[in-house]
Amino acid sequence: MPLPPDYHLHTALCRHAIGEPSDYARRAIELGLAEIGFAEHAPMPTDDFDDWHMRADQLDLYIEAVRKAQKDFPELTVRLGLEMDYIPGIEDWLRELVARARWDYLIGSVHYLDEHWAIDDPKQLALWEKHDVFEVWAEYFDRLTRAAGTGLFDIIGHADLPKKFGFRPDRDCSQLYRRFLEAARKHNCAIEINTAGLRKDCRELYPGEQFLRLACNAGVAIAFGSDAHKPEEVGLDFSMAVRAAKQAGYAHYSVFNLRNRQFQGL
Ligand code: ZN
Ligand code: FE
Ligand code: FE
Ligand code: ZN
Repeated sequence: MPLPPDYHLHTALCRHAIGEPSDYARRAIELGLAEIGFAEHAPMPTDDFDDWHMRADQLDLYIEAVRKAQKDFPELTVRLGLEMDYIPGIEDWLRELVARARWDYLIGSVHYLDEHWAIDDPKQLALWEKHDVFEVWAEYFDRLTRAAGTGLFDIIGHADLPKKFGFRPDRDCSQLYRRFLEAARKHNCAIEINTAGLRKDCRELYPGEQFLRLACNAGVAIAFGSDAHKPEEVGLDFSMAVRAAKQAGYAHYSVFNLRNRQFQGL
């Protein structure tokens, strides 16, 4: 079976990834992938919000660069997406972005627990020590549930991101997962199996095994992403991700075209 599309690719525009869309496309062809999609960090309501999202005036450049990859590599299907940061209150801004282009899919991700703390930012690692781990997870899943509830997103990115640095609550989190998954199912949101977790301290896929089984039982669809920040990371560990999906009970994955979802067999 061919590998599923890699829908979570970044580009140099976010200032912490390298390479043009065409470099990622070339790598995908080397690997024998049939389809990829870009999900660059979408602009925030103000450009000085932080230093790791593309700026608002770069959105057209981004789209042009993805279109160029489509033209350069007609043998590969190249989708246009975004990874949008969900922060309660910026829904109007997100809706504006949604209206700006003919996106194939939109990934909703939560990185910020409040306006000042991106829980996955290594530069802010010290803040973890000042917080109760379970409270952080609970608040994170509360935000993720609200993100799914906006109905703005086709896919929710790296759903158990708080485990990135290895801070895991000693309490059972299945109720947090279930509540989120219920919202995802209701709003037709797929979740992403994101292989970047394997390259972080937590050393496992986002989301983990228990979560993925609950997701399958809840009837929530999946898509795949490497969260590549350099061309060599395209499709990384996808065979492992496919195995994990099957073990959790999945037989299909989602593909997106202009925000329409179809299913393909794993
Ligand atoms: Zn990034
Ligand atoms: Fe992310
Ligand atoms: Fe990402
Ligand atoms: Zn991400």
